Amino acid sequence: MVDQYCGGRPATRRIHLSPPDVGPAEEALVVAAMRSGWVAPAGPDLDAFERELAERVGCGHAVGVSSGTAALHLALLAVGAGPGTAVVVPTLTFVATANAVTYTGAEPVFVDCDPATGNLDVDLLPDLLDDLRRRGRRIAAVVAVDINGSCADYARLLPVCAAAGVPVVEDSAQALGSTYQGRQAGSFGRVGIFSFNGNKIMTTSSGGMLVSEDAGLIARARRLSTQAREPVAHYEHCDVGYNYRLSNVLAALGRAQLRRLDGMIERRRAMREHYAKVFAPVPGTRILGDGDTGSNCWLTSVVVDPVTAGWRARDLGEHLAAHDIETRPMFKPMHRQPAHLHRCAVVTGAADRLFADGISLPSGSTLPGVDADRVLGLVEEFLGRHR
Ligand SMILES: *Cc1c(COP(=O)(O)O)cnc(C)c1O
Repeated sequence: MVDQYCGGRPATRRIHLSPPDVGPAEEALVVAAMRSGWVAPAGPDLDAFERELAERVGCGHAVGVSSGTAALHLALLAVGAGPGTAVVVPTLTFVATANAVTYTGAEPVFVDCDPATGNLDVDLLPDLLDDLRRRGRRIAAVVAVDINGSCADYARLLPVCAAAGVPVVEDSAQALGSTYQGRQAGSFGRVGIFSFNGNKIMTTSSGGMLVSEDAGLIARARRLSTQAREPVAHYEHCDVGYNYRLSNVLAALGRAQLRRLDGMIERRRAMREHYAKVFAPVPGTRILGDGDTGSNCWLTSVVVDPVTAGWRARDLGEHLAAHDIETRPMFKPMHRQPAHLHRCAVVTGAADRLFADGISLPSGSTLPGVDADRVLGLVEEFLGRHR
């Protein structure tokens, strides 16, 4: 048995981009859940986790599911996505956003991002919605993704969607605990979703949650998440449902993580501030979403203009990889993914440039300390060599 799952590593150990941050607090609640006998996708920890997360986000209702992708699938079904409908999806996102749309039978239509923030470019939205309408398409939803933990531009996005009568689904998989104009991420759309994958800001190893002010919507999603079983003694099913419910044992892990969320956000923020300081004097570089004080700083990505800087983002990635430090290019846009190439897309080139010039750096909440010093030292060494 180890006392700590992540901290206290020798300095030579591989450093990951966004590792899980779990320890004794999580172990205690998981063991208690197992001993309670509720080792099933139902139980008191699951009920409590839903209540506690809904309260944290400031939404009336929540349902815990087995992944962020499952949450997105149910959220999209809840707003009516299905065959014959279109769903607007930012092209700069993780593939789950687009995949969940295709699971419903709806057609994803990709839209480019604001180069400054990486979030959906709201300027492109009115014409795209008009155009889809003119061509007789029913638009089931606009999905807004809060990239790297920075909320989309809801002050501008929500009125555009409201005017067009299109519901917003908030893919807040990366943004739990972030705020925008004082409101919590996940609370902006008709329905919001979170991911508790192992690499997210908090984890249940795998898991997800839907949140909404609409009790009926959450009740329908909950029913679909348990094979749409009718409330009778025998197994009775009037609809085709899914086996998407979150395990009670994993919900216990989630409860422990939620209690530690603010501390984990603080440490990710500290990492971003360190990077911001290191890159501030370097011409041709910027931190994506810099200046967003509400971000949970899930990932810190630096964007490098190779002409001004004299080096490429990938050169820095290679330098760190040589020292066993993980980095990742920014998300490859959906309109470039072989699985989604045949879809319609409105592109300005902004997401393509972020993919070419952006690199995500180790950002985890277990880093501050020896590992952070090692990463920052190597970044400075690289920058020194390229001055
Ligand atoms: C991680 C992520 C998801 C999917 O969540 P899983 O829990 O991995 O299924 C969806 N959307 C975005 C933007 C994500 O980053």
